Amino acid sequence: MRRKDALYLKEKNKSSYELAQRGKQSLIAHYTAGIFSDFIFYDYGKGSKIYDIDGNEYIDCASGLGPLILGHAPDVVTEAAVEAISKGSVHGLGNGYEVKFAELLVECIPEAEVVTFTNSGTEATMHAIKLARACTGKVKIAKFEGHYHGTHEFAQISGRTAKYGPVESPQSVPDYAGIPNFVVDDTITLSMNQTESYDIIRQNKDELAAVIVEPLPIAAPLDYKEFLVGLREVTEECGVLLIFDEVVTGFRLSFGGAREYYNIIPDLSTYGKIIGGGFPVGAIIGKRKFFKPAYFDGFNLGKKSVFITGTFSGNPVTCAAGIATIEYLRDNKYLYEQMSNNVKYICENIEAHAAKIKFPLQTKSCCSIFVPYFFNGEINKPRDTKWTYNIGQYDNFRKYMAKNGVALGDIGIIFLSAAHDKEDCKKIVEAFNKSIDEIY
Ligand code: PLP
Repeated sequence: MRRKDALYLKEKNKSSYELAQRGKQSLIAHYTAGIFSDFIFYDYGKGSKIYDIDGNEYIDCASGLGPLILGHAPDVVTEAAVEAISKGSVHGLGNGYEVKFAELLVECIPEAEVVTFTNSGTEATMHAIKLARACTGKVKIAKFEGHYHGTHEFAQISGRTAKYGPVESPQSVPDYAGIPNFVVDDTITLSMNQTESYDIIRQNKDELAAVIVEPLPIAAPLDYKEFLVGLREVTEECGVLLIFDEVVTGFRLSFGGAREYYNIIPDLSTYGKIIGGGFPVGAIIGKRKFFKPAYFDGFNLGKKSVFITGTFSGNPVTCAAGIATIEYLRDNKYLYEQMSNNVKYICENIEAHAAKIKFPLQTKSCCSIFVPYFFNGEINKPRDTKWTYNIGQYDNFRKYMAKNGVALGDIGIIFLSAAHDKEDCKKIVEAFNKSIDEIY
């Protein structure tokens, strides 16, 4: 793709620009630290739209980076959260919302017997790994290159950098600074859609506690069913726990998430995003036997216990919003097909336009998620997507899209919500095609 420098939008986004400059003095966030651009500062959102502090309206395609499957501030969720918050937001004691929420999730996820709440997807994957170690008495963890599991040390091995070593046996490489060597040594990196991954699991089974996988890696949202069926068989055969990281896919790929979509039952699953109804959340879900280490013998904490807690974990506001969201989705399952059809419509139309003018664009999608890639070439796994190297190019494209009235998230993934109607989708297509014309 020929790159024209993006217009900075200084005129249209004057207040955002000024706030960005101010923010840089005291705030470290991904947009002030220079990782992504900082040209839209959000004021409020409703349904499929967001409004920035200059009063510009955008169709929002970031959906809060995934959680907002019902759009911004859906009444049913806002009312539930406001009712809960009016009674206090955190108590340091048990609360009825948390129990009701756990019951609801257990009811909605057939193999689940118990749930434990955290405040983020990061905490959920971190504790799930610890549970797996405590259950199996083994230490090593296997994960897939290009799969994102949050920001704890074990999640930041080869999560973004899907490019080191041969594709059949990738190297474990820290994505960022601050990761000790022992974490690298105890993490085995695998590759999606490579059967060599099964052999590596077999070879390391005596040391391997768990394999954690994004069943739909958002870097490359393709159908991985065959590979995942094999992964389930191999992990079972080897006595290695299989952790599905459903932080993105849970209640998004289908009401039953990736486990239902693929009809594969993992040992443990981690959730986040959608289940919090727009509030901070994470959860680990599975059969009671895998949570045995989380039951304490009073305060006789020992090497066999995993301590999973957090001041705000299971707080009533998150749980109330989560209950309202999940109940709404449960009662309106047709929304999944609607979102999926909308994604198909957008992808087909932007690909057709790009093909007509010979602009290198392809999309990969699954249900309500799609990713545009600005190159031709086959994509079978995250490594093929040139994920990290494309970010600068994508960031530039986002500015054109913003100018044309559509806000894209900063990580290259488009999450549609149930609030996007046909008119929104038409405008998204128009904005894509216009931006492509302008940039080409
Ligand atoms: N797992 C996956 C698959 C994710 O996509 C994310 C976040 O995007 C996480 C874990 C981490 O969740 P959080 O950002 O809530 O810590």
